[in-house]
Amino acid sequence: MKTNMVLQPADLSLSALKFDNCFVRELPADPDSSNQLRQVHSACYSRVTPTPVVAPQLVAFSQEVAELLNLKNETCKSKEFAQIFVGNKLLLGMDPYATCYGGHQFGNWAGQLGDGRAVNLGEIVNKQGERWALQLKGAGPTPYSRRADGRAVLRSSVREFLCSEAMHHLGVPTTRALSLLLTGEQVNRDMFYDGHPQEEPGAVVCRVAPSFTRFGSFQIFAWRNEIEPLRQLVDYTIQTDFPHLGKPSTAVYQQWFETVCRRTAEMIIHWMRVGFVHGVMNTDNMSILGLTIDYGPYGWLENYDPDWTPNTTDAQGGRYRFGHQPQIALWNLVQLANAIYPLIEQAEPLEAALQLYNDHYQQGWREMMAQKLGLKKFEPATDLLLIAELEKMLQLVETDMTIFYRKLVDLVPTDSNDGADLFAPLLDAYYQPEDLSEKNKAQINGWLRTYLNRVAQDGLSVDERQERMKAVNPKYVLRNYLVQLAIDKAEDGDYGLVNDLLQVMRQPYAEQPENEEFAQKRPEWARHRAGCSMLSCSS
Ligand code: AMP
Ligand code: MG
Repeated sequence: MKTNMVLQPADLSLSALKFDNCFVRELPADPDSSNQLRQVHSACYSRVTPTPVVAPQLVAFSQEVAELLNLKNETCKSKEFAQIFVGNKLLLGMDPYATCYGGHQFGNWAGQLGDGRAVNLGEIVNKQGERWALQLKGAGPTPYSRRADGRAVLRSSVREFLCSEAMHHLGVPTTRALSLLLTGEQVNRDMFYDGHPQEEPGAVVCRVAPSFTRFGSFQIFAWRNEIEPLRQLVDYTIQTDFPHLGKPSTAVYQQWFETVCRRTAEMIIHWMRVGFVHGVMNTDNMSILGLTIDYGPYGWLENYDPDWTPNTTDAQGGRYRFGHQPQIALWNLVQLANAIYPLIEQAEPLEAALQLYNDHYQQGWREMMAQKLGLKKFEPATDLLLIAELEKMLQLVETDMTIFYRKLVDLVPTDSNDGADLFAPLLDAYYQPEDLSEKNKAQINGWLRTYLNRVAQDGLSVDERQERMKAVNPKYVLRNYLVQLAIDKAEDGDYGLVNDLLQVMRQPYAEQPENEEFAQKRPEWARHRAGCSMLSCSS
């Protein structure tokens, strides 16, 4: 069998990576280090090395993440880098492992899941003293691979790589992505689970985050009634990722859960702000840090439709549809509360924290909507109705969410606000502007008039309002069809568009007039094309 050699890199910036593997040092390990499928009890992780591949090749890397790790751009283009971040070679100080977790999938408890294709390399401490865990997704089988192959295909890896970085630049809490590499090996996938498997190029993404711990990492212990390891993981998480809460105690556990509720609410508010649909909000895909994690069949709202989900597996029930995400996050937090209950043994503080999620979400959502509309402050007396009417108006006809809000910036109150075609600057947001009926136009104008009157009362200067609105209403989002075009090209060996999209998404709020083509609404051909409007979990 091929093995991973430990590399003594010639490149100084690689050899300077300082590993400090707290997770494996402080948490219980699976005593078995064979790479065989099994149920793993009373342990947070199993040691396992990535499975080497034949021909690693760099597709793209994120220079911001490289900087976080104190890696030079030149280093990321080197052969050594490719060998390491595809999983062929280890650096001194790496101590690879896969973590054990469980989860509720689509509302049902699924038992042990775990890192079935992700191998954690270790944690580095950068020059600023920040701790970053490195994880290769698609690096081969682990004891948690169940019936699958431990690999990832290029298309899903492009999607994860680009979206991690796009979300970061949009200001949405997320895991990051350092690199995207081809393995040089083919992977067999039945994309639509319809008996037509195909060979696809395999790839590995190096994900980077302070921690990859999920709600399901706690649930697995509670399910097995393994209270001591549960406590160890909670204490470790508090000490490592929430040190401001102080020394773990029952009171600190409660505060910690409150903090998790608050961070989760904040993450969801951001999703609702930018029109992001995660697609698979299972409890194993919920980060304890409130980061967006596990980019699978996610999607971006094109025409505003709260009932939309890109995930074909969920098309019927729509459990994870856009407008349902706030409630689902709460449902997931309830599962987490149940999991940590044995450490607290009082329901009341946990229920209070769940209520806090609701309050925090409501409050934060109102503030966010006021910001999107360029209002100084949310005034319930007027703005609840204003926004309820806006939601209806956006669904009258197909209206591109991103373009609508961005163009709304250009609307300026005048003395009368009663022009017959106030909506003219917004025309670009409509998928079929020529089909707008007179009634639709009157409805849209009616709302805009109310809105502009509200803006006029609000009293912000035009410049200030526009500046504020542009800072929260992106011009560029990672449109579903754009990623699909980038994938099509990448599958033909052309990585230009992957890198162009990475570049555009570094400044999603800037005008970037030279990149106007990436701000266009979905073209007609993409309406029903696989990968653009619908995705399966196959990845
Ligand atoms: P996901 O739906 O991607 O969050 O994955 C759910 C579970 O399935 C996780 O435990 C993954 O590690 C596992 N999984 C997904 N795809 C694969 C694969 N190709 N090989 C091994 N495990 C996988
Ligand atoms: Mg997952």
